[in-house]
Amino acid sequence: MTSPDTASLIVDADCHISSSRFDSLAMVAEDLIEKMDRAGVDKSLIWLKPPYTKDIAPENKAIHDAVKRFPDRFLGFGWTNPHLGVQHAKDTVTRCYEEYGLLGIKFNGAQDDYVIDDAELSMPVIEHAARYGKPIAFHIGADFFEQTHPFRLGNIAARFPEIKFLMIHIGGAAFPALDRSAIEIASQHDNISVIGSAIHERAILKAIEVLGHDRVCFGSDMPFFLMHARLAMYEALLRHHSGEARRAVLGDNIRRVVGDLVA
Ligand SMILES: [Zn+2]
Repeated sequence: MTSPDTASLIVDADCHISSSRFDSLAMVAEDLIEKMDRAGVDKSLIWLKPPYTKDIAPENKAIHDAVKRFPDRFLGFGWTNPHLGVQHAKDTVTRCYEEYGLLGIKFNGAQDDYVIDDAELSMPVIEHAARYGKPIAFHIGADFFEQTHPFRLGNIAARFPEIKFLMIHIGGAAFPALDRSAIEIASQHDNISVIGSAIHERAILKAIEVLGHDRVCFGSDMPFFLMHARLAMYEALLRHHSGEARRAVLGDNIRRVVGDLVA
C-alpha cells in the first residue's frame, strides 16, 4: 500500500470512528478500514465522534476495541470532556490510559463547548493527563474561536513543556481560518506539532515552510472530509518537496509523536 517512492507508511492523523452508525456520517472500524484500503492509507489515528447524547464512554470503548482488532492499522486516542465534570473527565483519562492503553488524549472545546485553558474546568484535567507523559491533542479551530483560539494552546504548551501537543486543524474548521495565529503560536512552542485537517492548502504549505516538515502531519478528518481526496491534495502539495519531507508529513511525524516510530 505504500507508494513506490517512499519506504515509510502513510498515516492519516485525524479520523473519527463510532460504536455504531448512529447518524449519517458515523463510521465503525470496518468502514474506516475499507476507506483506508481504497485510499492507500496504512494506518489511521482514531478518536471518537461525539454522539448527540454526549455519552462518550461507549465511544472511547469502541476506539479501544478497534485498536485491539486492528492493531497494525489503528493508533488510538481517548477523548475527554471537562464539561461533563472535572472528576468524570479525569476518570475518563485514567480509564483510557490504564485500562485501554491508548496513546494520547484529545480535548475538543468546540464540540464540547468549553474554553480549553479554563483554570477550573479544563486545566485540572490537562494536568491529570500530563502526568502520564503522553501526547495531548486539541481541536484548534475558527468555528468556536473563543474557546479554542491558538493562543490558548500556547498557554497550555508553555505550562507543560515536557508534553507533546497536537494542534488539530491549524485554526481551520471554519472560514476565515485562524491559520496565521495558529502557525505563529506553534512556531513559539517546539512541543506543538500540527495536524493539517479541515484547513486550506496554503496554510498547510505555510506551516511546512515556517515550522519545518518535521512538525506538520497529514490528516483528513474522516468522515467529515474524504480521506482519498485529502491524501491526493497532500500528495499534490508535496510533489516538489524532498522525499524526506513527504515521508515526514505523510506518516513519520505523527508516528514519532505517538511513539509508533522510535527514532
Ligand atoms: Zn477530526
